Amino acid sequence: METLREKLAAPGRFLIGSELVSTRGGMAEGSAIKARDFLRGLVESPRVDWVSITDNAGGNPQLAPTALGKPALYAGKEVVIHLTCKDLNRNALESEAWLLHSEGFNNILAMTGDYPITGNGGTAKPVFDIDSVALVAMLRQMNEGLDPNDPRGGGKRARLGKTSFLIGAVTTNFKLREGEVMPQYAKLAAKIRAGANFIINQIGFDARKKSEQLAYMRAHGLGDTPLIGNVYVLGARVAQVFHEGRIPGVVVSRELNALCQKHGASPDKGKGFFLEFAAKQVAIYRGLGYRGAYLGGVHDIAAVEKVLAIEKTFAADDWKQFARELSFSREGEFFFYAADAATGLCDPTKRAVMPEDKSRHVGAAYQISKWAHGAMFTPGGTVARLGAKLCGGAKDPAQGPRLMRLVEHASKVALFACQDCGDCSLPEIAYLCPESQCAKNQRNGPCGGTRDGRCEVDGFGDCIWLRAYERLKSDGTERQLLAHTPVVQDQGLRRTSSWANTWLGRDHLARANNPPPAVAPTKPAAP
Ligand code: SF4
Repeated sequence: METLREKLAAPGRFLIGSELVSTRGGMAEGSAIKARDFLRGLVESPRVDWVSITDNAGGNPQLAPTALGKPALYAGKEVVIHLTCKDLNRNALESEAWLLHSEGFNNILAMTGDYPITGNGGTAKPVFDIDSVALVAMLRQMNEGLDPNDPRGGGKRARLGKTSFLIGAVTTNFKLREGEVMPQYAKLAAKIRAGANFIINQIGFDARKKSEQLAYMRAHGLGDTPLIGNVYVLGARVAQVFHEGRIPGVVVSRELNALCQKHGASPDKGKGFFLEFAAKQVAIYRGLGYRGAYLGGVHDIAAVEKVLAIEKTFAADDWKQFARELSFSREGEFFFYAADAATGLCDPTKRAVMPEDKSRHVGAAYQISKWAHGAMFTPGGTVARLGAKLCGGAKDPAQGPRLMRLVEHASKVALFACQDCGDCSLPEIAYLCPESQCAKNQRNGPCGGTRDGRCEVDGFGDCIWLRAYERLKSDGTERQLLAHTPVVQDQGLRRTSSWANTWLGRDHLARANNPPPAVAPTKPAAP
């Protein structure tokens, strides 16, 4: 049986995947029986190349995806298991990955995951010990033979046996502001450098942005990684939910929602329109040169077959007209490339000229923090050498001299709302603290959940990655955002001195000086 890896390796092939959303309760629950019926149809359909099964989608507790995945796997279908960081820490994720490997599941879609919104007895405590980039990096290490020795210990245990995961990751450019779009592109590059083998884009309904995603990847040395297009089969109700922003990171514009409501009021509730609308998106992805389409919002095999059958009736060039119709960006939306007036798609030869974002978050605090960091932590500098000497000779080197620790704690709480995690990411996030100001403690770029620049979780305001991008852009260094090895926070450093940890080479910055080799090809960046 041909694997998904082999299919993706065959250039020119356009693949079809379908999402199966897991359900709450056991396999005998009515909803699970319905899901199993759908799964059976997907397994039997020769046009469906793989089935993708969600992991507590939407931040809700659900049946583990492997329960539904096993019958499909044993029937010879390629199964992609979603693995997210919201409910599991790095040890549990590794454990889950060993289980998947042992059971024969070789395809994983690695994601940060939605913020938990429900749970038995109240809302669950989110985990977010690592993020999607660090998870991709960990899976790649497992593929290379994970080194079980604690990096601080110098142990002598042999590397573990290799796994053979095909690692997928998700990206999105369906964002409003420059400070959302550009960090997403930077994070995509970080995922590919970390070891992602294929990419699926987020749900979105603008052909220009879809074309820009592919053009950006090709122009920035990321084009060798297969890109799959997300096709969500809308309905009037779900369009309204998306429009109201109730699903993080998914946008249905006012115009598209009005169209969906109009068709939803028709005698067939818009079924014909929505299936054709999905088929047109499949055609657009095929025409643009994506490597496949990923169908979501489908709940029975008849809908999947219908979408694919409609798409088959289109002529080879019809997608160009569909691309002009599928133009649902928002007023003031940021684009990297200019529009091609003839096609309605992006023109990869020209940068878009966008109006200046007036709400930039740049102030003196950034410049002062940057100066202070350079003065204190430049390797080999006077302060760094003195700090290492003082902390190394202190009674407790993890805390450093008592007075220094008091100054560190007081100043960092006042300036950055520091939570004393001991493994400081301020220099990678333009001096913004991910522990106190990011709901998901994202250390390797923004999650996909922002809406118009704001965090998906109430009370967190504008995303720290948007603010970091704007700070870096103010001094022309925005290309440095995420241009480093993945940050994996050492939770063992909590309540210790981050200054001492940097000076004595105990934090992630020291580990980054000895990065693992990159797997994905990196080519020079185009404009
Ligand atoms: S040490 Fe940790 S908690 Fe404190 S500012 Fe740095 S990242 Fe934030």
